[in-house]
Amino acid sequence: MIKNISLINGQTLTSTTGGDLFQLGFFSLDNSSANGYLGIWYCNLTPQEGTVVWIANRNKSVNTSMASFNLTSDGNLILFEEDKIVWSTGTRSKELNSARLQLLESGNLVLNDSNSILWQSFDHPGDSQTYLPGMKLGFDFRTNTSKRQVSWRSPEDPSPGDYAHVVLPLAVPDIVMLKGSSKTHRSGPWNGYGFVGDPMMASRPQANPISFTFVSNQNEIYFTTNYRASPTPVLSRTVLCANGTFQRWRLDRDGKGEWQLLWKIPEDDCDMYNRCGRNSVCTWNYYTVNCDCLDGFIKIMENGSDAGCQREKPLNCSSNNQFSKVQNVKVPDTENATVGGNMNPDDCKNLCLNNCSCVAYAVISGSYGCITWPSDLLDLRTFGNGGDDLYVRLAESSTKKHRWAAIAIPLLLGLFLLCCVGVLVWRKRNRASTRLLLQLPNVKEGDSTTYDDVSESRSITIDSEDSRLHNTTDRGVGMLNTLGLLPSYDLCTIKIATNNFSDGNKLGEGGFGVVYKGQLEDGQKIAVKKLSRNSSQGPNEFQNELSLIAKLQHRNLVRLLGCCIEGTERLIILEYMENKSLDTFIYDKTKSSLLNWQKRLEIIIGIARGLLYLHQDSILRVIHRDLKPSNILLDKDMIPKISDFGIARIFEGDKALEDGTTRPIGTFGYMAPEYLLYGQFSFKSDVFSFGVIVLEILSGKKNRTFGQTNSNLNLLQQAYKLWKEGRSLEILDDAVNCSYPTIEILRCIRMALLCVQDNYEERPTMTEVVMMLASDEQLLTPLKQPTITSTYSEGDCSTKEMSITITGR
Ligand code: ATP
Ligand code: MG
Repeated sequence: MIKNISLINGQTLTSTTGGDLFQLGFFSLDNSSANGYLGIWYCNLTPQEGTVVWIANRNKSVNTSMASFNLTSDGNLILFEEDKIVWSTGTRSKELNSARLQLLESGNLVLNDSNSILWQSFDHPGDSQTYLPGMKLGFDFRTNTSKRQVSWRSPEDPSPGDYAHVVLPLAVPDIVMLKGSSKTHRSGPWNGYGFVGDPMMASRPQANPISFTFVSNQNEIYFTTNYRASPTPVLSRTVLCANGTFQRWRLDRDGKGEWQLLWKIPEDDCDMYNRCGRNSVCTWNYYTVNCDCLDGFIKIMENGSDAGCQREKPLNCSSNNQFSKVQNVKVPDTENATVGGNMNPDDCKNLCLNNCSCVAYAVISGSYGCITWPSDLLDLRTFGNGGDDLYVRLAESSTKKHRWAAIAIPLLLGLFLLCCVGVLVWRKRNRASTRLLLQLPNVKEGDSTTYDDVSESRSITIDSEDSRLHNTTDRGVGMLNTLGLLPSYDLCTIKIATNNFSDGNKLGEGGFGVVYKGQLEDGQKIAVKKLSRNSSQGPNEFQNELSLIAKLQHRNLVRLLGCCIEGTERLIILEYMENKSLDTFIYDKTKSSLLNWQKRLEIIIGIARGLLYLHQDSILRVIHRDLKPSNILLDKDMIPKISDFGIARIFEGDKALEDGTTRPIGTFGYMAPEYLLYGQFSFKSDVFSFGVIVLEILSGKKNRTFGQTNSNLNLLQQAYKLWKEGRSLEILDDAVNCSYPTIEILRCIRMALLCVQDNYEERPTMTEVVMMLASDEQLLTPLKQPTITSTYSEGDCSTKEMSITITGR
């Protein structure tokens, strides 16, 4: 084999025109010559996931010290590892004049002879994860080949991963993101300048520095982005990351020359394919998903879970059927849709009316015109602006119902308003007398006690010498009675608010009862914790304890709004948190992608501040004892709020804790060793739980089940091991991707490892934790391996198992 012109490790070929934009050469992702690749990357960016734009040998790495890239005299490009061919273009030609290999400013590697192109990397992207302007994503009918974007397996491994971005050559072509063979996102139909389901792209070209072209003809179908040279040159790339995020980046060369992330998919939960199930519309309401059935449809359940919506009444096909308009949506999946071509909305409507299998239509201007759908409508989402209008066929009865609705709704509203006024007047009178009844005994028992007195006599005491909590008795109960200020709600109001504690209103269930969502007459949303009826506490004690807790107010604590005590019923009324609890985000593959590094750090800082307040800054000094992600709630702006503080103490007789030998209350996986083994708890046992939560936020994994799915180490030990080996960042959740400030993350991991030290004396206080989080300096405090942990295997009730393990002392 003749090796004529060759490139070896350390040598590069640089694009000559346009200012040294791209480089071709050997690179490795782990700085070792053993795992090298031949590829093209941006000159000013280190070769890594997202910046390598083409790789010859993505499936098989080479030892770069033995590799060479050659242009042979017969016009073939070959990558050798010693004498073994690893990759080649296979472009051999007998009559070669002057073969030339050139790296163009577009990033295209071109092999030409005289003026004819023999081979170019843009035609052979090799399922690249990065696409550049000028590359075609699509399908060639002549060669029956698909040009698709395929993610890397991981940021360290460029071999083909789980995700692909492909054009589906259907009657109404779509670009879809696939995980294996399942769709995870759909772009929606082309509207002449973009795909409606991809934000930004669908905006008009004037507002968009990058323009797009979509070509669909007999020979090929493809989508490409165009390089815009004026008025300012704009460079761009799209990347399909290993975690399934699709990102569009651009570099404004006349500006600061920094890469900006223009947009990404999924941008929110509604971007996930068919998130709400069939015949349902997904609306994203700032961190919350709302799924609404289309008009004439009702929700259905399959195997106990939400399965979208079905028609309330069967569709009686008639040319009198009416349509309901759904505005500004990504129209449903067009896999089975039919294209009617250019026609006006009335003709499209008639086309649908005259076809009994048509259930909906839409007119997409600028491309396919009239589209009709024959069956269930999948993957609908709304957009604030943009999107198209969809017309859904209504069954006769729904149509009549609509006419009736036009008359009945205003009438009912009038009646409802009258009732509300009546109820308000009645409640005002009634509440005054109820409040009087509840508070009278308190007033009698020592009206003069001030709030500070109460905190003095409060049962929580800390021994300054060993910082352990010795006693949490109820000595202060008599004194606390003076605090009966917590609003008391009557059961009837709460029943109305929670739809009689209906299953539909259930938010979740914990160790102390069920939590329901509710709405008061004035519109305020509440969460109601209905406690199980086995409490030994009397009504006064219960209300007083809560009154005390209600005094604790901080941006990072959930507000207690009131309580309700009637008979054996005990309810705690809390402010409602739109985004439920932290656990619903961090362990969930889809939702965790919404938490970038910045958001995660803000949550960690928020929890730390809330805990510092409980421990130190409030009028009481409170040890939470059950800190875990399900007790960290998130409001509509994703501000974390600690909940259930002190609640556990109410229900478990405190006496049992005095001797420190009782089975501790709390949740496996978050309990400090001294609490777990000897029942001793202190502020430092809360610090331990905080450390576990931080590691869970960073890794997206549960400590208490970690060892079962990974090595036999638990999350804390794994984090310690990686830290010891200088590989701390590997603990990070895949969803925290692409760019983040490494120093901040390393500091956070080390702080968390300090919090989970076996010896409580070696753990920092929350004051120190908050300072560490605010500081720019690296932490140097030495660390030891966490050895004691509780694991928990979750199965059905009979197989739940808890074990305490001591390792590697
Ligand atoms: P534990 O009983 O140990 O606290 P838990 O936190 O899982 O366990 P609950 O406190 O009863 O159980 O809460 C159950 C679920 O209800 C929580 O996981 C959370 O998702 C939801 N929830 C609780 N309080 C609220 C609230 N104020 N707003 C919205 N959702 C809430
Ligand atoms: Mg809870």
